[in-house]
Amino acid sequence: MTNTPIRIGVLTSGGDAPGMNAAVRAVVRTGISHGCEVYAIYEGYKGLIQGGTLIRRMDWSSVGGIIQRGGTIIGTARSAEFRTREGRRQAAANLVTLGIDRLVIIGGDGSLTGADLFRREWPELLAELVAAGTISEAQAAAHPHLRIAGIVGSIDNDFCGTDMTIGADTALHRITEAIDAISSTAASHQRTFVIEVMGRNCGYLALMGAIAGGADWAFIPEMPPQMDDWEQHMCDVLRIGREHGRRDSIVVVAEGACDRHGKPITAHYVKKVLEERLGEDTRVTILGHVQRGGAPSAFDRWMSSLLGATAVEELLNADADAEPKLIGLRENRVVRLPLMTCVSDTRQVAEAIAQHDYERAIAMRGNSFVEAYRTLGTLIQSQPSPPDRLRRGHRFAVMHSGGPAPGMNTAVRAAVRIGIDRGHTMLGVRNGFQGLIDGDIFEMDWMSVSGWATMGGAELGTNRKIPQGSELYQIARNIERFGIDGILMIGGWAGYQAAYKLYSERHIFPAFNIPIICLPATIDNNLPGSELSLGADTALNSIVHAVDRIKQSAVASRRCFIVEVMGRDCGYLALMSGLATGAERVYLPEEGINLRTLQSDLDEMMEWFRRGKRLSLIIRNEKANPIYTTSFICSLFEEEGGKLFEVRQAILGHLQQGGDPSPFDRIQATRLAVRCIEFLIEHADRQEPVGAFIGYRGGKVQVHPIEDMPRLMDPVHARPREQWWLALRQMTRLLTTPPVFHQVEQK
Ligand code: ADP
Repeated sequence: MTNTPIRIGVLTSGGDAPGMNAAVRAVVRTGISHGCEVYAIYEGYKGLIQGGTLIRRMDWSSVGGIIQRGGTIIGTARSAEFRTREGRRQAAANLVTLGIDRLVIIGGDGSLTGADLFRREWPELLAELVAAGTISEAQAAAHPHLRIAGIVGSIDNDFCGTDMTIGADTALHRITEAIDAISSTAASHQRTFVIEVMGRNCGYLALMGAIAGGADWAFIPEMPPQMDDWEQHMCDVLRIGREHGRRDSIVVVAEGACDRHGKPITAHYVKKVLEERLGEDTRVTILGHVQRGGAPSAFDRWMSSLLGATAVEELLNADADAEPKLIGLRENRVVRLPLMTCVSDTRQVAEAIAQHDYERAIAMRGNSFVEAYRTLGTLIQSQPSPPDRLRRGHRFAVMHSGGPAPGMNTAVRAAVRIGIDRGHTMLGVRNGFQGLIDGDIFEMDWMSVSGWATMGGAELGTNRKIPQGSELYQIARNIERFGIDGILMIGGWAGYQAAYKLYSERHIFPAFNIPIICLPATIDNNLPGSELSLGADTALNSIVHAVDRIKQSAVASRRCFIVEVMGRDCGYLALMSGLATGAERVYLPEEGINLRTLQSDLDEMMEWFRRGKRLSLIIRNEKANPIYTTSFICSLFEEEGGKLFEVRQAILGHLQQGGDPSPFDRIQATRLAVRCIEFLIEHADRQEPVGAFIGYRGGKVQVHPIEDMPRLMDPVHARPREQWWLALRQMTRLLTTPPVFHQVEQK
């Protein structure tokens, strides 16, 4: 008797979301790598019921070249028939006939509920099919259980349990691009724009879009305005903003926004209010389906790939009658959660909003959502809160150090506004530690950072200067001269070293006895105490965007591209861009390159091209090996490849440091800057002020004492000793190298 292979089906259902293709690709390729047969079910549950050509076996190459495409190539649909038992019985008949008894469902709460119902009914449905003679008893007996794994595809990020859903990050990209574009025209004409974004029961896109776009007001379903006369309050704030020189006003409205009594707040109503009460020329833009479309962001590509691969592993390893799992992301890690508990929690938020129980709704969204809402509340004020006359405010300096990183300006804006709002004086230091040495320090007011939320680069200036010798004395004098009570350094490794230097010299220079905190900002993502630094997400998106174009340029030839990316001694950008673009090989400084690897990679590549492959991609970190440079590898492959394929190199260079910050970088910049200012305020009065560096670990903000810096850092390579993303290394190979090559290698 031959062993029947395990057969897995994958379908996308409900609303489409960018990133679904990456998940489908990962399901297909992980399944094949494990020796399974994988079937795509086209058009969601409709295809499951219709069967025939809508259920197709996939091979390795059928999911080639789809990772960068928006939407879902296997189609999605709504199916009224699947809501009926007859429909589900027909679906079961199609699956059993093909021997498929494991399904990965990528969709929203409706799709996942339907899948769970189908799973529970499965044994009865099969019994009915046997009774009707549609399938044989043997067929039914061969598939006693249906195993399912769910992945949430929803641009709204409206699901409980998982921190992000497929498509939400890309939708935020579309929203911030739109707000940025609208802001520039609004500022030219001094206009007001009301922008409606998606989100019926979830304000995630509106809230994060407003923070990332530097909007002036926002309405979300979970947090209706406190006051009944919110119209007047909004108009007052926007009017004062204008009086203080703000050239544009942007109001973001979630499509499900309403007041405390459940009355909808529509974009058109807000426009009417603004025109009538402020006499402002107001325009409405409803972003609509633009938010759903376009190429997926880097995050939506790599995250969805991980989710798809894990879903297959869950289907292969879980007990047949185990509770079905939702594969989600929590604290930056893939997790398996009880599917139906998550669905039910998600529904409860919608119910709470429908019942006007906003406290319950917001509580279920979690702390960081509430924190973000509060921060937005401060940032959109047109003026700081009135000062507390009984308390002396402190004087805090904000500065950069290291290479420029997108998100630096956003962080300065948030720090300055939060600091001033809490009654403190905020000082800007130009040109990094050189400015602190030269006394190039000035006071920053509320409007001095207007428009900085969205700007790339570093307006305060930055460089890699680390002060030495008598320069420390100059710094001490300037700290005293300007009455600086605390320093926020937003920057990279040079800034961390310089801050540590000031801290360790405090026994010589008493002026250094002030709190100092470092906020991680570098595209290299090589800083201790933080899983991600500001700028890394923007750089990753820039790389992915560039590689998409490079790949498109090669439509007609057999070509291997070798793309060199930045990162210094840290391979984060190389590995993650490799995952997000489907690169066959990634060369990292953590692993290095040797002749043996080059030889076997070359052999494998020749075999690929012999078998008809047209395009291959290698990503090499700039410092992966000092001898085997990008040009060297390029020449080697070109020479050895002969007529089989040609080789081109692309060194991406400084485009990786530029560009407007991505929504994620803007949101994190704001969140971290707020926490840093709170830290300075808390420690400025203490006898023994401390040094610290802030960062993310497991999605949470953590503050580390500066003494921990040497322990967490590998000083020779200037990178953290622990790097979470290294665990994803085998994934690039799993998803790009068909099993047949694994056998070739073992020979
Ligand atoms: P989403 O998955 O994005 O929430 P829908 O709620 O429209 O989108 O669900 C998509 C499809 O999932 C529906 O067209 C239907 O076929 C199926 N479905 C949804 N809810 C159920 C249910 N309670 N029972 C059976 N099938 C369902």
